[in-house]
Amino acid sequence: MNEQVNVTKAKPVLPDAQTVTKVTHYTDRLFSFRVTRPQSLRFRSGEFVMIGLMGDNDRPLLRAYSIASPSWDEELEFYSIKVQDGPLTSKLQNIQVGDQVIVRPKPVGTLVLDALLPAKRMYFIATGTGIAPFASLMRDPDLYERYDEVIMCHTCREVAELKYGADLVTSLADDPLIGEFVGDKLKYYPTTTQEESPKMGRITTLLKDGTVAADLGLPPLNPETDRVMICGSMGLNMDIKEICENAGFTEGSNSSPAEFVLEKAFVG
Ligand SMILES: Cc1cc2nc3c(=O)[nH]c(=O)nc-3n(C[C@H](O)[C@H](O)[C@H](O)COP(=O)(O)OP(=O)(O)OC[C@H]3O[C@@H](n4cnc5c(N)ncnc54)[C@H](O)[C@@H]3O)c2cc1C
Repeated sequence: MNEQVNVTKAKPVLPDAQTVTKVTHYTDRLFSFRVTRPQSLRFRSGEFVMIGLMGDNDRPLLRAYSIASPSWDEELEFYSIKVQDGPLTSKLQNIQVGDQVIVRPKPVGTLVLDALLPAKRMYFIATGTGIAPFASLMRDPDLYERYDEVIMCHTCREVAELKYGADLVTSLADDPLIGEFVGDKLKYYPTTTQEESPKMGRITTLLKDGTVAADLGLPPLNPETDRVMICGSMGLNMDIKEICENAGFTEGSNSSPAEFVLEKAFVG
């Protein structure tokens, strides 16, 4: 008997594969993309997951990514850096609609509303891609049910690097799903450190010297009324943590909610 055997090597099936539905490039260092949502994925707005691509050795190459879309969204959105020689993002920056990305459905993180005690006002403080978890939280009605005021501070080097956050904030007021929750509660405070813009300077300096409070007509940071979430470089996180602790704030966590929480936007 002459049996024919198909010796074509099957393409490896990507584990936890999701399909890219949209890609938007902002600068040569920043882009966002949306993918289908794993059926089993339940997460709280502000959490992160491991995502990635298949590496050259046929093993998944994964990195931590904040989910930038809210927990109610049918798809997942991510906002990403492009590191030119970065193992993952040197490839990820080339993804197109229809491509597949690995999304491990195990969300974790401390930038969640449950890690903070109730208060009047919420400050989100981000640099660069650190706005991603707040892009999720700003689209969550629960945020506006818990807080009377939300202040989104975002600092980047150049104006174009603010666009993802600026477009999102602008779209929220008229959003058919959450516009009515947002109302006039959300205040946006963008600053740049290198390129000329209406408000320049490091957010650390502007908070410390009272500029943010003066510009927005707010009282100084106060643990009785305010909560703070921080997501940026290690340096930014440590500087804002110090400002919070000097003002009498205690760091919170999932198991022990308190007055401020922080998470690294990247390692390095
Ligand atoms: C909890 C957590 C959440 C994260 N969420 C995001 C996210 O939402 N979006 C995102 O783009 N990245 C995020 N990161 C960083 C991400 O995990 C990767 O580091 C990034 O995608 C680059 O991967 P890479 O393999 O190309 O390079 P890597 O080898 O991972 O990084 C190379 C170097 O690039 C720099 N770098 C890495 N990520 C960034 C960044 N985001 N901004 C500025 N410099 C960076 C660092 O100096 C790092 O040493 C997160 C990291 C952590 C720990």
